[in-house]
Amino acid sequence: MKDSNFLKENNGRLMWHPMTSPKDSHDNPPKIITGASGVSITDLDGHTVVDAVGGLWNVNLGYSCQPVKDAIAHQLDTLPYYSTFRGTTNDAAIELSYELAQFFGPDGMQRAFFTSGGSDSVETALRLARQYHKLRGESGRTKFLSLKKGYHGTHIGGASVNGNANFRTAYEPLLSGCFHIPAPYTYRNPFNETDPEKLAQLCVQALEDEIAFQGAGTIAAMIMEPILGAGGVIPPHKSFAPMVQDICNRHGILLITDEVITAYGRTGAWSGARLWGIQPDMMATAKAITNGYFPFGAVMLGGRMVDAFEGDPNAKIGHGYTYSGHPVGAAAALACLAETKRLNVIENAAARGTQLFEGCKALMDKYDIIGDVRGGHGLMTAIEMVSDRATKKPIDANTANTVFETTYTAGAMVRVSGPNLILSPPLVLTEQDANTLLSALDAGFAAA
Ligand code: PMP
Repeated sequence: MKDSNFLKENNGRLMWHPMTSPKDSHDNPPKIITGASGVSITDLDGHTVVDAVGGLWNVNLGYSCQPVKDAIAHQLDTLPYYSTFRGTTNDAAIELSYELAQFFGPDGMQRAFFTSGGSDSVETALRLARQYHKLRGESGRTKFLSLKKGYHGTHIGGASVNGNANFRTAYEPLLSGCFHIPAPYTYRNPFNETDPEKLAQLCVQALEDEIAFQGAGTIAAMIMEPILGAGGVIPPHKSFAPMVQDICNRHGILLITDEVITAYGRTGAWSGARLWGIQPDMMATAKAITNGYFPFGAVMLGGRMVDAFEGDPNAKIGHGYTYSGHPVGAAAALACLAETKRLNVIENAAARGTQLFEGCKALMDKYDIIGDVRGGHGLMTAIEMVSDRATKKPIDANTANTVFETTYTAGAMVRVSGPNLILSPPLVLTEQDANTLLSALDAGFAAA
């Protein structure tokens, strides 16, 4: 590897970074992470901190998960690549489809379609939703519904159902026929409703109204995150997802849960669907499927999809990726699933999630800069920062950056996304790691 001077000189110069302006990367070069172990990361200058971002919501089992590393190494030695396009497959992908059907069986899932990541999984689900209706003779069902503040990746379809202007405006025109419903976001919503249950009802009423306005027969699917993640960790009231499912069922609209973050234990349940007791038609998964060690994803398919596609001899899937079912990704995923189950990560995710949520609420009593703390379902927590609690005026970027940098120096990497400080640490976080994180945050807010 090149020396540290070379890395620092070239940092932010020759690489365009996701979700960042090239000028900003140039002027404020990103932290160079060079090592990781357990739940901590180390930067080029030798600082070691708790990674409260968990990679990017994906390193659920931490950075030292040996069985996954071994599985990847072994698969590279045995069969580093073979495609699953028509006529061939590979043994790891077959085994993984079996294991995933078992794992997501309680969610009503029966089949898997493999992808290279979250955006691919979303795109796959949207495309298969349209094809599903065509196969059933309802070719007028082409539109998509989703939630404002939702994040569904960055392909054109995903961006079109995204509910945040930052990922849309510069790329318009997007896919036509995508409509957005208010999110069940108690802290800020167009109804000024602070009661989560009442807000859930208002949002599903808005969904019903939109369906009536568009015409149910024109809508292919509703896609939503069981808990909105990148939009600022927004957990709905428990009545929300079952009401959405009921409406979709009544109108013949497929329900896709975007579980790129929520699948595999993050919420303290094995999936977001299971957390809310619903059975969607498709689940888009990725991220923690391989613990972040290999780019991979899986769309899980329920009974309606199976009946439509497998009941029609002409239902050819005109969709797929070179890396669909990549044997190294599949081997990594198999090892991950085995570890995820062996460690029963949902238990620790729930316990540490409660500790962090309560700890962040305690910080709210101490610092006016904290306007709202959201979480309470596993290791997904957000702190929304404001410059004025009464008016809820969002924090300015400089102050948010001071909180971020001071927290880092005090021992924890957190993610700042707009006014939100997002915590999504590995699910193997210990009580002591969580305390380190909370005291680093305390230092961060004290500096603002
Ligand atoms: N859907 C959701 C809910 C996500 O959180 C993400 C990534 N943060 C994606 C889709 C896109 O995944 P990827 O970045 O792997 O393409």
